[in-house]
Amino acid sequence: MLKRISQFFQRDKSSKSASGPLVFGDGQHCLSPDMINRDAFKVVDVLQKAGFEAYVVGGCVRDLLIGLKPKDFDVATSAKPWEVKELFRRSRIIGRRFQIVHVQFSREIIEVTTFRSNSSQSTSKNRRQQTDSGMLTRDNVFGTVEEDASRRDLTVNALYYDPSTNSIHDFTNGIDDVDAKIIRIIGDPETRFREDPVRLLRVARFAAKLGFNIEPATANPMKHRAADLQQVSPPRLFDETLKLFMSGQGLDTFKILVEHRLFDYIVPQLGPMLNDRQGIPMKLVSQALINTDKRIRASQRVTPAFIYAALLWPAVQRLASNFEKNGNSSPYALSKAAGEIILNQIPVTAIPKRFSIPMREIWDLQLHLRRRGGNRAQRLVEHPRFRAAYDFVLLREQAGENLDGLGAWWTTYQDANPESRQTMADDVMATDRSPKKRRRRRNSPKPKADPAQ
Ligand code: ATP
Ligand code: MG
Repeated sequence: MLKRISQFFQRDKSSKSASGPLVFGDGQHCLSPDMINRDAFKVVDVLQKAGFEAYVVGGCVRDLLIGLKPKDFDVATSAKPWEVKELFRRSRIIGRRFQIVHVQFSREIIEVTTFRSNSSQSTSKNRRQQTDSGMLTRDNVFGTVEEDASRRDLTVNALYYDPSTNSIHDFTNGIDDVDAKIIRIIGDPETRFREDPVRLLRVARFAAKLGFNIEPATANPMKHRAADLQQVSPPRLFDETLKLFMSGQGLDTFKILVEHRLFDYIVPQLGPMLNDRQGIPMKLVSQALINTDKRIRASQRVTPAFIYAALLWPAVQRLASNFEKNGNSSPYALSKAAGEIILNQIPVTAIPKRFSIPMREIWDLQLHLRRRGGNRAQRLVEHPRFRAAYDFVLLREQAGENLDGLGAWWTTYQDANPESRQTMADDVMATDRSPKKRRRRRNSPKPKADPAQ
């Protein structure tokens, strides 16, 4: 596939005009109008027939070129938001400062963005305010298609496809970079990262997703701009982390984040614990992401609660063990540590309650799953968070924690019939009560008391 693309691209390079974009016409690339989602095609068609410029743009063009299935199809046009709205009955303008139009179709919504300019005059404005609000203020300055291309983040994300002529318009040599598998920031990398630090994460995300290399001029400033991530609003950073870890290439993305010191600003409480590359924290997070990637490939459900539970667990465990050393019971220490660690994380990535509550349940259950004698095991299996907590036990064991075969015990228990389950639970109860076991326990971590809450 890439070979074919490559041949097409080279053929066209010779036809580069002195100014304006490279245009890859019909037969000079591997795209065809039937690859474009019907509704996006319709939007482009209506806009063009009304006399506006319109293209399918961004990630979908990039993905189609390299043979991936696009997540969505975005349209960029010279029509102003209100002009777009007039053309489509079922449409509405979204956002105040960054206005886009959502055109509703029976199956989906097509997002239509007016060409914007990234006018450099505004870079002299108060930088902090600028960084806090990302590029929103500037992005409502409308512009030409060329200006629109240069305000985008990556060359491979700035390709404009016109289905009516089956041509790709390339203002930033994005086609060359697709061909050479290169992630390159458009414009001066340092400036573009400073304008919007989320672009640091986007570089990491797309390098991992596409399997591309980050070219040196883009990669060089990443480490020392990483701290700018602290200026990104916590809700936006939370959303970005979901894209980083839940898009199917979580492990590769994580490696790039660590390499460029970006991860320290996403989960600061874990960052220093990853310095030991062979340590359990590194293994736990890597394994959590390997498992998540596998689940996504198998179209299984993944939840941010589980991922964040894994990302923060090493910090929770360490703090809980400090509290225990100070004489607190295990459940109390764990609960107090969990509360503190979450509280510290919220100002970085604002984890919504609907995720932080299940996270705490998964952590709490790590203690409960050990106390499984008598009727407890049966009750625990019925707990709504049991499955996640059990998966979390397996994850901890995969990462090298020694839990005395707890995962295997629960695996067997779940597969067993009611009688066998009872026998297993009775055996645990008997072992817990045996004096030998008690004696042995005195040298190992404190016995777990009943949960305080
Ligand atoms: P995908 O949807 O597959 O994750 P995408 O490239 O479509 O990838 P989106 O987040 O949907 O990414 O953004 C659409 C387009 O908007 C991008 O391709 C890029 O051109 C532009 N864009 C998005 N975020 C930024 C940003 N922070 N700075 C500059 N341009 C951006
Ligand atoms: Mg997209």
